[in-house]
Amino acid sequence: MLSTMQDAPLSISTLLRHGSRVHGTAEVVTWTGEGSRRTSYADVEREAAKLANALRGLGITGDQRVGTFMWNNTEHLVAYFAVPAMGAVLHTLNLRLFPEQLTYIVNHAEDQVILVDGTLVPLLGKVLPTFTTVKHIVVVNGDASSVQAPDGVQVHSYAELLADQPDTFDWPELDERSAAAMCYTSGTTGNPKGVVYSHRSIWLHSMQVCMTDSMALSQKDRALAIVPQFHAMSWGLPYAAFMVGASLIMPDRFLQPEPLAKLIAAEKPTFAGAVPTIWQGLLAHLNAHPQDLAPLHEVVVGGSACPPSLIEAFDKLGVTIIHAWGMTETSPLGCVSRPPADLSPEETWNYRVLQGRFPGSVQARLIGDEDTELPWDGESVGELEVAGPWIAGAYYNDADEAAGGAGKFDHGWLRTGDVGTITPNGFLRLTDRSKDIIKSGGEWISSVDLENQVMAHPAVAEAAVIGVPDPKWDERPLVAVVVREGQQVTPDQLREFLAGKVAKWQLPESWTFIDEVPKTSVGKFDKKRLRAAHADGQLD
Ligand code: ADP
Repeated sequence: MLSTMQDAPLSISTLLRHGSRVHGTAEVVTWTGEGSRRTSYADVEREAAKLANALRGLGITGDQRVGTFMWNNTEHLVAYFAVPAMGAVLHTLNLRLFPEQLTYIVNHAEDQVILVDGTLVPLLGKVLPTFTTVKHIVVVNGDASSVQAPDGVQVHSYAELLADQPDTFDWPELDERSAAAMCYTSGTTGNPKGVVYSHRSIWLHSMQVCMTDSMALSQKDRALAIVPQFHAMSWGLPYAAFMVGASLIMPDRFLQPEPLAKLIAAEKPTFAGAVPTIWQGLLAHLNAHPQDLAPLHEVVVGGSACPPSLIEAFDKLGVTIIHAWGMTETSPLGCVSRPPADLSPEETWNYRVLQGRFPGSVQARLIGDEDTELPWDGESVGELEVAGPWIAGAYYNDADEAAGGAGKFDHGWLRTGDVGTITPNGFLRLTDRSKDIIKSGGEWISSVDLENQVMAHPAVAEAAVIGVPDPKWDERPLVAVVVREGQQVTPDQLREFLAGKVAKWQLPESWTFIDEVPKTSVGKFDKKRLRAAHADGQLD
């Protein structure tokens, strides 16, 4: 028997309409380095309508892909709504990818139009001749005449293109399962993989973002979206904000600690989201230039393991770090660490440092060596697999998978490549990525645990641990340390600091001091580059 309920499609256009009507006065603020540009949710719908009309004029009539090569700002937000709501597919391009990866993803997704920020024209210009499907470049906030377009590519100014367009659009009713947006994982090995989100998955994910035990976004918030719009859809914050009417604060290209601190002082966000390296940088700046962060009270930190020392440091500044885990493939919200109520401070702390508790819509399981499912006892270590309505079930046109190679999907489950434990009450603790884990004498050493312990030393700004070949133990950890400005520390002092905190056999013998840990295109420790540097003898 079927239900008697209506089958209303969950779509980006309903989110847009809701935000612009019910929360029409909520603000979108874009930082200019010195001050702010402001607009309202109502104006975002009007501008989205203009953009949709303009894109129709450029031949976007179906599910063609429209790429964005942009910072977090108002115009990017407008594209976030206009493109999917009109029935096309938004493809956010990671502007920190290597040129050949950019070429690959634009051609693989068959982007027809690319919106590019004026400041990024030189970067895009270098690869533009390698794009095979792009017909139009639209320059946002910049000079269209600065683009040297190859034959067959037309260049437009965003402002001019939109100027005479009507500010209403008859948003079509779409199948909620149709593609809304796509994002390629940064591809630590092989070519990047395309994840295609549906209207439905984005809608359900937005509801999850707003739930109290999740990111708890509400109409009371001013949300600072530092996590790039090209990185897993800025963790879904733009869409979730429209669902509840939280104002959005966009940093544009000003992502260094000093301008971020200025932006926080001027725009007074209550909530923010970014990867740990952003907060590490801001912390160092705040130590040298103290500033009242109020009313900022909660920041979500994920994308890589959040060092407990960072959580402690922000506690002292009156800001609670909420640790979360996710992937591009999980939209990205997988789990969020909100400790159970009524625990002692120490027990609460033990939960806060974990990656998070799974919500109702995300199923999780741990798979052990023999492909067996492991118990949730907080001790059994296995590979995490997840399933749910906003978890990818396949990659877009994936040649590796078609050739039986990638094996990322396991009968309806996503194999995350992350290794860890789950407590009986559903909290995930990640010990490593399977490719980063260090196997020493048949035992596993968690590189993340070691990093967290080393980073708790007051003289250490950053520490990244990789496994390096060892004739006796197969692999041993090598710690690459970045020392805080004006501080000094020796390997012996660090080993002494670790003694008693990690098992004796895990204590690293090999240390190297570097100026900066290399970062991936989304700001995570790039261990692949560290391993390559070590193999080339550059880390001795
Ligand atoms: P990429 O794979 O290019 O880094 P993603 O942003 O999709 O891009 O990365 C997802 C991965 O980031 C996860 O599989 C996990 O390894 C890591 N990650 C995300 N959040 C956390 C966290 N809180 N703690 C540890 N690792 C995390």
